[in-house]
Amino acid sequence: MGWVTEEHPTDQELDACVQCGLCLPLCPTFRLTGKETASPRGRLQAMNAVRDGLFEVDETFEHIMDFCLGCRACEPVCPGMVPYGRALEGTRAEIVAQRPSASHRLRAFLLGSLLGSRGTLNVGSTLLGFAQMLRLTELAPRRYRRLTSGLRPLRGRSDASVGHSGGSGAAGSVGLLSGCVQDQWFRPTNRAAIELLEMAGYRVEAPLAQTCCGALAAHDGKAPEARSLAAINTPAFDGYDMIVATAAGCSAHLREYAHWADDGESVGSRSIDITVAIAEAIERGLLPRVETDNGEIGIQDPCHLRHAQRVTAEPRAILEAAGYQVVEIDPAGMCCGAAGLYTILQPEASQELGNQKAEQIRSTGVKRVASANSGCEMQMRSALGDEVEIRHPIEWYLDAIEAARTRVNVAAVKDPS
Ligand code: SF4
Ligand code: SF4
Repeated sequence: MGWVTEEHPTDQELDACVQCGLCLPLCPTFRLTGKETASPRGRLQAMNAVRDGLFEVDETFEHIMDFCLGCRACEPVCPGMVPYGRALEGTRAEIVAQRPSASHRLRAFLLGSLLGSRGTLNVGSTLLGFAQMLRLTELAPRRYRRLTSGLRPLRGRSDASVGHSGGSGAAGSVGLLSGCVQDQWFRPTNRAAIELLEMAGYRVEAPLAQTCCGALAAHDGKAPEARSLAAINTPAFDGYDMIVATAAGCSAHLREYAHWADDGESVGSRSIDITVAIAEAIERGLLPRVETDNGEIGIQDPCHLRHAQRVTAEPRAILEAAGYQVVEIDPAGMCCGAAGLYTILQPEASQELGNQKAEQIRSTGVKRVASANSGCEMQMRSALGDEVEIRHPIEWYLDAIEAARTRVNVAAVKDPS
């Protein structure tokens, strides 16, 4: 049957693979199984076979593609520069079109309509906060319990960032992507972003007209839903000097908006991850360096920061400016197994990768970890519990600034001269 939608992987994307195999050792699913069909090269060959009419989009093909994390660790090493993430999203959109199912319809609703509705998310998150408080989340089925055990406490959350407007604007203007669950479950991260960007002299607005960026829908092959969300965000972020997201998965997706919306290039070209914005502000002297020695901190590289955006230096620079000695957890940058819905859809592989990451963290002996992606944070907390404190690099940095200011004020009171 071949391809049936306009989302399909293009010949150019598929023909770029020269089958060298350099990507295989870096692919987490290949390392877990040793199977060619669980490798980037094998998956691209399966896509080629469908294109050429040699293979159907059947259950086997769907399983091969579902088992992929979409971590894109295969991209940076690829001599053919295969845009693997794009090809995978297109292939998954084909699967949704050619193998419709109740599961795909439910996920399309959840990733499009639910994540796009701020009111519904707010009510749901408030209820989830009560369930957490009453420890009802411990009664959830196992695959969902792993998700809820990684959440931060939701009761007594700070205010949502969406609708915020403030800051001088001397350094320029920023449109903040508040995010869907990011602004419900990770408000301290968004609040830290606002405080730091305004401290640096930016005008920061989180426009009310925005919605979910659509990353989860795109990664799951729900292309119409991803396009609808991008069509709302594109005009909402018109006019800002830069557009900033506080979760690496969201910033990576915004940077690829040229594919998802008419005039999406205008969003993509102005979008950056918050770690890049803050590291640049420190480098330009708009934000301070803390001189105190705050000890060691582990750094985890989210795949959508390290592989999709090739950003690694900036979160480390932020932590060093916060007075920390950065400890490398995993120089190879293996996926932690969070990967959007992967935790729920592929629980065994997700848990195995989460446990491997937890062991890497334990072996360093650090008690603090920085991660610039909320899904990774939840996955690691789920595996480690209270053993290690995990937060976004900008939250560690803002805390270090505030602690340094408190010390200065206390010293001034003790020594008024
Ligand atoms: S995206 Fe990740 S899991 Fe999928 S083929 Fe590439 S390296 Fe392997
Ligand atoms: S590294 Fe690139 S060209 Fe080589 S097998 Fe992997 S995807 Fe194909």
